[in-house]
Parts: sequence; C-alpha cells; structure tokens
Amino acid sequence: MSKSNEIPFVALPVDIFTAMRDILGEYDLSDKEEEFFETLGVRCGRAVVKRTGFTWESDEQLADALVSLWAEVGIGRLTAKDVDKGGVAAEVTDTIESLALGNVGEPSCHFTRGYITGVVSELSSREHMTVEDQCVCEGHPKCVFTVIPL
Ligand SMILES: [Zn+2]
Repeated sequence: MSKSNEIPFVALPVDIFTAMRDILGEYDLSDKEEEFFETLGVRCGRAVVKRTGFTWESDEQLADALVSLWAEVGIGRLTAKDVDKGGVAAEVTDTIESLALGNVGEPSCHFTRGYITGVVSELSSREHMTVEDQCVCEGHPKCVFTVIPL
C-alpha cells in the first residue's frame, strides 16, 4: 500500500480549513472568520447540488435528500429528519471544524452550517438558515443543527 492510501479522505478538507483559517489570521481578518466560512459553505452546498444534478421532489422528505447528498461528499456523517413548517433537524459527527479545532468552548462549525443551508436552500428552491444548537467544539458528542425556511 502506498503512503497516500493511508491518508483519511477527510484529511485534505481539514488541512484546507486549517490553512484558510491561518491565512485569514495572517491577513488580520480573524474577525471575519465566521462570516467567511459560513458564506463559503453556502456556496459549496449550492454548487454540489448543481454539480450532481440532484433533484428533490416536493412530496419527498427534504431530510432524506440532504442525507443522500451528504453521503456523496463525505465530510462527516449526517443524519436528518424533517420537522414542522418545512424545517430539518440534522446531526453531524466528525465535521471538518470539530476535527480541526477540537473543544474550543463554543459552536464553531460555520462552514458545515453554511453547507447545510446551501444544500437545503438549493434543493428546495427556498432560502433557509441554519442554527448550530450543540457543537462538538463546545464538548457535546455531536453537532446538532436546525434548518429553518426564511
Ligand atoms: Zn459543531
């Protein structure tokens, strides 16, 4: 087995995330970090829906579509269920941020949060926002997100 085969799939995204964070700091833009990673996540989430040509029929569970699409990308493991009023409750283990940062005492998965927003908004053709209710980066076993239509 060559050495590159031993690198976990998630290693590259974690390295990219860490490098981007470092560079933002070097450019004195650490105060923009949350906004930057959320916006990046939204754009990547929308892009992956377009790229895969994945479509969602409105009589299907939006959460199921999100889970199927998440499996294509391989950034953490996601489970999700539909909730009232067009919302989705999602739980993710091994987000890029939780792997890169560990416990820093506050919810920190801004890219993942944006990514979920982008995927759900693009799939449903309706704007959504995502709140991270619990985070591994503040000591919880999983990251828990609520996705709400706007
Ligand atoms: Zn988190």
